[in-house]
Amino acid sequence: MHILVQKFGGTSLSSKEARELVIKHIQRERQRQYQLVVVVSAMGRKGDPYATDTLLSLIAEHGDALPVKERDLLQGCGEIISASVLCSLLRAAGIPAIALTGGGAGIITDNQFGKARILEIRTDRIRHALQAGNVVIVTGFQGVTESGDFTTLGRGGSDTSATALGAALQAARVDIYTDVNGILTADPRIVKDARALSVISYGEVGNMARQGAKVIHPRAVEIAQQARIPLRVRSTFSEEEGTLVTDVSDVLHSGAVRDRHVIGVAHVSGVTQITVQAQEGHADVQLQVFQAMARHHISVDFINVNPGGAVYTVFDQDADKAVAVLQEIGYSPRAVNGCAKISVIGGGMNGVPGIMARIVEALTEEGIPILQSADSNTTIWVLVRESYMASALQSLHAKFALHDIKELK
Ligand code: ADP
Ligand code: ASP
Ligand code: MG
Repeated sequence: MHILVQKFGGTSLSSKEARELVIKHIQRERQRQYQLVVVVSAMGRKGDPYATDTLLSLIAEHGDALPVKERDLLQGCGEIISASVLCSLLRAAGIPAIALTGGGAGIITDNQFGKARILEIRTDRIRHALQAGNVVIVTGFQGVTESGDFTTLGRGGSDTSATALGAALQAARVDIYTDVNGILTADPRIVKDARALSVISYGEVGNMARQGAKVIHPRAVEIAQQARIPLRVRSTFSEEEGTLVTDVSDVLHSGAVRDRHVIGVAHVSGVTQITVQAQEGHADVQLQVFQAMARHHISVDFINVNPGGAVYTVFDQDADKAVAVLQEIGYSPRAVNGCAKISVIGGGMNGVPGIMARIVEALTEEGIPILQSADSNTTIWVLVRESYMASALQSLHAKFALHDIKELK
């Protein structure tokens, strides 16, 4: 029998009606003779009673009083509630099921609390439970250190639990169930005519995830890609099969999809652009700037170094600190808060002339100033003010006709 991993996100578990649909998706795959490992997130989103953000709001006014190790105990509780409720529902429906914590399922991590990395998964316990005919429910987002401390894998980490379990169990596939019909050409909350793709490559979806498309965690994609496990992203609220994520790079470069240069746009908001100019008497401006950022653990992005200085971005919440640090070492940086990094992504854009020209056209037509840009062979980034973010995404989506994107079959 083949193993299938199904992961259900917060909105898929947040109401009685949604949970009934979850049971249906489980029953359907059981009838297809899969052995099922079901990974669950905490129920709902901020404001819902057992959502991760709601749990964290219980300590919000205490500042940083709670150490990261104990904070993990709190933020991992929501998944335990989901797993036990789902176990109860399955059993009530006559389906044999057990529920395990991340640690109970053998997920061993390092001790970077709040962003732990999976070191190994000891699968014996899951395998025995599957062989005994159970659906095995595993709390997403969690692990345990060798010394028995409870850890979490970083926000959105249930996706990572799912693909890591899929890799360790050599699953036939990992299905990520969420509240949208797959990987879309843009965030549907901003671009109303965003369209679900039927197939996408690991590389492309990894890029989208790293550039802010929240629908799947980038680490989850990396793990699936390394293990070459197919992923499906689909909606709990529909019978449509969603998006298959697989190694389609060969197909992408074939004549059949020559027009598919760009497959999506993504965004990250809340960033500050910092410009530092070289000053007389200060040699090695770049070295000094980036060493100072590293010393103060400020993460930098969108870096552009030139003989006259450096331009880069930090998250808005780190901006004041970054400026103060630079002033301390004798620079007078310029900071532009409230920017958004927009990414135009496509595995097929490599070597295709005119993509940047169309990006500039789309933004100019809307009167959107470009503060900075950069490119790789699969992504072009532009920095704009956050107030222009939605119209930038919409105009780029329209310029590349992504609502009408050519599909791979
Ligand atoms: P879950 O709780 O199921 O893990 P998330 O909120 O983490 O769900 O991710 C799903 C959300 O990701 C969608 O509701 C959608 O608004 C957002 N999203 C952003 N970019 C994309 C995209 N390119 N395709 C699909 N969804 C996207
Ligand atoms: N519940 C966790 C979070 O909100 C993990 C997840 O949903 O993937 O980040
Ligand atoms: Mg998620």
